[in-house]
Amino acid sequence: MTTSEELFSIYERGGAAAYFGEAVSMSEHGLQAAFFARASGAADALVLAALLHDVGHLLEAVPEDIAEWKSDAHHELIGSRWLARRFGADVSEPVRLHVPAKRYLCAVDASYFDKLSAASVHTLRLQGGPMSAAEAAAFEREPFHRQAIRVRAWDDQGKVPQLAVPDFGHYRELIDRLALAGFGNSSGGG
Ligand code: FE
Repeated sequence: MTTSEELFSIYERGGAAAYFGEAVSMSEHGLQAAFFARASGAADALVLAALLHDVGHLLEAVPEDIAEWKSDAHHELIGSRWLARRFGADVSEPVRLHVPAKRYLCAVDASYFDKLSAASVHTLRLQGGPMSAAEAAAFEREPFHRQAIRVRAWDDQGKVPQLAVPDFGHYRELIDRLALAGFGNSSGGG
């Protein structure tokens, strides 16, 4: 199975589920984030990070009703670990850091918090709230923190009901081109 086939089957299985507390599905949300990444001229790896930033939600089932979501499932860690076995750090690291990026922006940009959706404010609390000054400084030392902040912006943007954007097939070539050699096309993958 190629990496794109593997990803398509994951999104076919769980992608139609609602994106917690938002008006779009998981698949629509990722596709919109990738669309906005492309529109802003992001590099291929970062477009892919935007597309797949929430894959962790699909790898580990969490309650669909955000109100029942009492603990943070750490979907960014589940997703980035999975992605790190299939792509370079320029894909997996912005995904790992996209939740810290929200906590960072809440700490350094007073206007950012006001723009968050209700569901995003709810998960912010579960994720530890805004970063302390020390946490923000540590975040700024992460090599991919700038990319993570950009993914975060497309994540926040990708919640538009019924926005028509390119589908997964549009990204097949990109996925398989950036997939690490040795994964995919073998029986041992997964
Ligand atoms: Fe998201």
